[in-house]
Amino acid sequence: MNRIPETLLGPRHWWPVAIIALCLLASGGQKPQGASAAISQDTLAALGKDSGNTGGLTPSARQGWEPSEDLVRLCDREAARWRARLGKGCSTVARPPFVLAGDLARDDLDVWHETTVRPAAEILWARYARIRPHEPVVILLFASENRYRTEAKRLFADRNVSVYGYYKPSRRCIVLNLARGGGTLVHELTHALVDFDFPDVPDWFSEGLASLHEECRIVPEEARIEGLVNWRLAALQTALQQDRLRPVRALVTSGDFLAGDVGLNYAHARYVCLFLQKRGALTRFYHAFRDRRAIDPPGASTLLAATGSRSWEELESEFRDWVAQLQ
Ligand SMILES: [Zn+2]
Repeated sequence: MNRIPETLLGPRHWWPVAIIALCLLASGGQKPQGASAAISQDTLAALGKDSGNTGGLTPSARQGWEPSEDLVRLCDREAARWRARLGKGCSTVARPPFVLAGDLARDDLDVWHETTVRPAAEILWARYARIRPHEPVVILLFASENRYRTEAKRLFADRNVSVYGYYKPSRRCIVLNLARGGGTLVHELTHALVDFDFPDVPDWFSEGLASLHEECRIVPEEARIEGLVNWRLAALQTALQQDRLRPVRALVTSGDFLAGDVGLNYAHARYVCLFLQKRGALTRFYHAFRDRRAIDPPGASTLLAATGSRSWEELESEFRDWVAQLQ
């Protein structure tokens, strides 16, 4: 059992607000869709499977987990590679399935692993990701914005990156500017771990779940990670008041999450996930959505069933009332 005490992550200045800079265009003031949708018995059955006496925890979380010899070897090799690439003044530690590296002392890398990476990862595996990494996840931590930007450019030719950090799926690598704190680390860690378990997760849920963890409360003893209300609420409530918040159903089914008013889309998806969390349905929804992806690609009917609402009209009305009273 993890001994890390209950932790709060994500004070305001830690959050990855760069995406908000893209928040320029209104989404067109669409009205909620009125059509009701029948919830199939298959959907209800899929949701029910995860709601037994396991509390939604995955089998791997209940049985414990040890990295394979192959994974340990791969992590050692990756650590040696990053030691050579980063050079003087940098350190690396292999903590399978993670390899942490950057311009910090080894002890400081271990503190990041023990206080943030490991507790958050254990809970993400317990709550969501059934499949654990079979290859190393590299986490590059840089103490200053200048070093972070310099290395992003030198190592990956990445320019104009978020001031906070980012995840590179093709390299299974998180790059982080520690001068902005640790909230972004849990956001990017969520992407990196979900990547192994739910590789074709749609953008709306990938970013909704990751954004939920930008500001969160972690209770390792209870395998609990809870998203909290954060700064993204303001954009959502403003859009609601100005009658330009599109329906939840459109957010989920339109496939245009990364177009148009991206900042509002992030806020919308984050609060749909928080809405599910408040109803005690987020873990079950994740499992049912992942397992039914082939028959419900955007997760719409699975979402409606998970909320317990009887129709899209009812869901929309309940979601909007809930958002309006949040503080
Ligand atoms: Zn993200």
